Amino acid sequence: MQASPRTLFILKMTLMVIVMALLFVLDTVTSYEVAAAVFYAVVILTAARMLGRRALIGLAAVSIAMTGLSLAFTPHGNLQSGLINMGISMAAIITTTYLILKMEAARAAAQAAQAQLLRLARIQSLEGLTTSIAHEVNQPLAAIVTSGHACQRWLAQDPPNLDKARLALDRILSDAGRASQIIARVHSLARGQPPQRGEFPFNEAILEVLALSGAEMARQGIELSTELAPGLPTAFADRVQIQQVTGNLVLNAIEAMAGVAEPGRRLHISTELRAHEIVLSVQDSGPGVAAGVQEHLFDAFWTTKKDGIGVGLSISRTIIEANGGRIWSEPGLGRGAVFRFSIPPTSQEQRP
Ligand code: ADP
Repeated sequence: MQASPRTLFILKMTLMVIVMALLFVLDTVTSYEVAAAVFYAVVILTAARMLGRRALIGLAAVSIAMTGLSLAFTPHGNLQSGLINMGISMAAIITTTYLILKMEAARAAAQAAQAQLLRLARIQSLEGLTTSIAHEVNQPLAAIVTSGHACQRWLAQDPPNLDKARLALDRILSDAGRASQIIARVHSLARGQPPQRGEFPFNEAILEVLALSGAEMARQGIELSTELAPGLPTAFADRVQIQQVTGNLVLNAIEAMAGVAEPGRRLHISTELRAHEIVLSVQDSGPGVAAGVQEHLFDAFWTTKKDGIGVGLSISRTIIEANGGRIWSEPGLGRGAVFRFSIPPTSQEQRP
């Protein structure tokens, strides 16, 4: 049976207290010349991964106090050497703690930067699309509002000026038609943009995405497992676009598991060759896709999240189809959801 993380934590803390107590006894019963207290620094170094900033400072303070107490209780030896050794031990404890805190701060900053990068990769693909939609559609919308106000005024007159009101309504209808034409055009533009397809090693590209999201997964206590088929043929697609889609599926999986208690957040990524197609599967242990949701998953602007935009999967589908593949979702084995996409391998003719 595997011990739970909580039990492991308690065990490790107990062990730490025992080691500290042994060090204290050793430092006290040996003569002044033996600087056993230096080993408190080793305990601090070992405990650094388990403890937060404050607890670590607390542990350093306790170690310093115990070093001082040992000196006071040590019955024999040369007091001058004892004082020097105490100084060295305390300096070692303080320096170790300071360095650990510095390193932890740098690690946290790097983690935050990685998480930000992952989000940016997703937003970047949306940004171009949303900016052009907003820019183009704003004009007819503003014209509709102006004509709407004019129409209200013509109708409020006594007697109402029906001819002018009708003209304003005509303008509203034609502007609304223009707005929907623009949306259709933007949509076809987004679809029509040819991907920069080329040959690339699929597993390697997936591992790059996972490296980028690794810190975020660790922060959220997600256990990642991979099963990347060895000897896959090279893929023929737009590498960056495929990585964007993979990153999006991984982010969705991470978000889906936010409500699952730790441990129990598991992400399984696998690649395989199925019917001459390269297939990536992203399986999570979240709540899965609820009944009635499945048919909307890939619809644009369809989301169940409070802060969601609902375009991630729709853009992913556009990208995968433009790269000659397919994307779909299935219920996970046990619990959770599996999202898969396929892309073609490089054929003989596509090789340079
Ligand atoms: P968003 O993430 O902004 O909601 P998406 O298009 O990426 O937009 O996802 C649409 C919806 O699909 C989500 O709101 C969610 O309900 C559902 N979904 C996506 N991925 C998962 C998943 N791994 N598990 C369960 N539901 C999911």
